[in-house]
Amino acid sequence: MSKKFSEPTEADEMLLTAAMAQYRPELVAAKARVGLIMVQAVRDQHGQKLGPALSHHGHSALARVRLVSDRDRVHTPFDVLIEIDADHWELEGGQDPKQRAALLHHELLHVEVKRNRNNDVLRDDQDRPRIDPG
Ligand SMILES: [Zn+2]
Repeated sequence: MSKKFSEPTEADEMLLTAAMAQYRPELVAAKARVGLIMVQAVRDQHGQKLGPALSHHGHSALARVRLVSDRDRVHTPFDVLIEIDADHWELEGGQDPKQRAALLHHELLHVEVKRNRNNDVLRDDQDRPRIDPG
């Protein structure tokens, strides 16, 4: 079995939209498009997890930020993807909307729009903001 990937619920998308508006209005102003992907860990035939859904620098992580490459931006409607450990999010204590919002807030702090010396947002060939994963 491999990891399972799925779309967020509408409620989770609304949490992200609210977190961006509240904590990172500069991302909204730059029209940075941030998406969520829910990731479930690999499991054995008994449903036991064989490892964390996500890891970051060798440690398991509840979420992590992935930049969408210039190439993938052509066909993906997002500039940045936040991968969420769906098992934690749904089952292991991350269900509280406040905790979810706090996790999204933390992940959004890793997303920085690149700017030039005049503080203008740098944009790619498709006029989308360039992003720095902080
Ligand atoms: Zn972090």
